[in-house]
Amino acid sequence: MKKKNNKVVEHNSAKPVAATLRKLFSKNKVGRLINSYVFKEPGRKGECTPDKCETIDGKKGAACCKLGYTCPALCESSCRVYDFRPRNCRVFPANSEDVKLVKNCGYWWE
Ligand code: SF4
Ligand code: SF4
Repeated sequence: MKKKNNKVVEHNSAKPVAATLRKLFSKNKVGRLINSYVFKEPGRKGECTPDKCETIDGKKGAACCKLGYTCPALCESSCRVYDFRPRNCRVFPANSEDVKLVKNCGYWWE
């Protein structure tokens, strides 16, 4: 932050860096775990609709459990370890970058 003509001028350089990191992290499960802590975006609307979503390459149902590979804990559209699922599963999509990884996710941001 800098003062110019007695006005405080905000530097926006952190915003593109954050956007790049969010995008980078959304590419794998470890990154999405980091996203879920560091870049969890407020204002998420909607609900989980596992029967309606699909992966970008067309695998139907529980799309976030099939990102990269199908999670071995997935049974049809249900999670066998639901009560113990990791944080990245609990909060997916953590931000508006995560939600672009699947089609027809029941969550969105305005
Ligand atoms: S992709 Fe969205 S709607 Fe589908 S199971 Fe994951 S959180 Fe739920
Ligand atoms: S642990 Fe459960 S919620 Fe997480 S990816 Fe696997 S099946 Fe999906």
